[in-house]
Amino acid sequence: MTSNKLVVGIYSFSGCDGCRHEILNLGDALLELLEKYNVTIAYEPLLGYVGEKEEYDVVFIEGSVTSEKEVRKLVELRSRSKVLVALGSCSFLGGIPALMKDLKEDVVKTLTNAPTSKLVMVLPISNYVKVDYWLRGCPINNVEFLTLIKKLVEGKFFRQGERRFDFCRTSVVNVNGKLLNLDGEKCIVCGRCVSVCSSLGVNALGIINRGIDIAVSTPFQEPLDNTPCISCGLCTAYCPVGAINHVSTTQLIQDMLRRGEKLVAYLEYEALAALAESEEVHPGKLITAIRRLGFDKVVLWTPLAEVRPSTDLSIVPMSYAEYKYITQFYPDLRKYLTQPPATRIPYRVVLITQCISRKVYGDYVLTAREVQTILKTSDITELEPTDPDHIFKPSIYGYLRAVGPYELRGVLEAVRKGIIRAGAMVTYICPNGCLMGGGQPYSRLPFEVCVECRENYYDKILKTYLTL
Ligand code: SF4
Ligand code: SF4
Ligand code: SF4
Repeated sequence: MTSNKLVVGIYSFSGCDGCRHEILNLGDALLELLEKYNVTIAYEPLLGYVGEKEEYDVVFIEGSVTSEKEVRKLVELRSRSKVLVALGSCSFLGGIPALMKDLKEDVVKTLTNAPTSKLVMVLPISNYVKVDYWLRGCPINNVEFLTLIKKLVEGKFFRQGERRFDFCRTSVVNVNGKLLNLDGEKCIVCGRCVSVCSSLGVNALGIINRGIDIAVSTPFQEPLDNTPCISCGLCTAYCPVGAINHVSTTQLIQDMLRRGEKLVAYLEYEALAALAESEEVHPGKLITAIRRLGFDKVVLWTPLAEVRPSTDLSIVPMSYAEYKYITQFYPDLRKYLTQPPATRIPYRVVLITQCISRKVYGDYVLTAREVQTILKTSDITELEPTDPDHIFKPSIYGYLRAVGPYELRGVLEAVRKGIIRAGAMVTYICPNGCLMGGGQPYSRLPFEVCVECRENYYDKILKTYLTL
């Protein structure tokens, strides 16, 4: 394979195409590699190459095989290629399509893009064909894709380290807790939860075991409550398959509303703005939709309404998450730490919030993401917008804010060193603060949008439509 041109085909079965897009995202680096190493991508419809070859040097398979027809196609591709590479979690592990096993066949057939031929149990593709290499991840690491191509052209061994094992899980690891649970059956070991938790400096989750037993867990598989976990819930927002999730009281609250119990929704500014942005609707229409769920009143609320101005040095945790973070990692600063706002939710109030850690204060808390799911059945665009019944405004202004783990650690170190000596300091642990809290709906804005731009955008959404 050293001197000859490498002819490559990239094929996709049931999956989201995310791994193939990662290859496209390589941009110039991909084009340079193809030219330098004399590689031809003969088949990749995303690049406009649709001329299939009878024989390939390398075929990449993205997605899982979910039907007999797809299995036949996979076996045929194997026979036409010298090397076959499983691309991404769906292909080498089963991935998200493997969750179909929990659905009845007649339900699957009602889904868009449902396979037209007889369904098969979704398994790693190595169950059907010999797989030479695996590119792990959801999506793959595209640099690893480049490295693999280079090594194949050079005729060198592609070192995969832990990834050289045939991956077919034999046992699952579950982690239970009062607030968060990890379902090992669903987990595709993509590691996103581990990396977000580590970026906070908490490291409650990690990868355990080796080879076929690899899994995500806590130290000694303890419930998350017995670990340094601060209950921020960011891992639930980063998990692509809902394997790690928080407990939900949606049913309880919906039952109370159906019985006609008078409940007041305290809707946080950030939750409303993110819902309006994600659903692309007027925030007033969302207020009407929430009212229609049966709430007696809808009030716009912020925990900053409960924070008192202070000239003395005080560290204000925006929730239980910051409170636990500071008490466990900066115990010497506890003397400056106030209680988080809203530890006692008023009687008959349901908080609608971006913050999963507020759930530790009781059952009457819904995340913005949970509300979005409830509202999925209503046509919000048809509703008339209404204003909130009341608006709580922040009671402090011009205070110091520490947003995200890096800023927070910097500011706490400055307090330790005596550089900051006075005034209230409001702390947010999530990387973009509450705007991207663990309970927020999935944003249409690119992830890279900076905190100030997102804040201005959300502010504009609320101020354009509501009388604030
Ligand atoms: S809730 Fe936060 S601290 Fe706990 S495991 Fe998830 S990311 Fe880590
Ligand atoms: S729990 Fe979710 S985010 Fe974490 S490794 Fe498993 S699939 Fe990935
Ligand atoms: S930054 Fe906001 S959403 Fe994140 S844990 Fe703190 S209060 Fe909750």
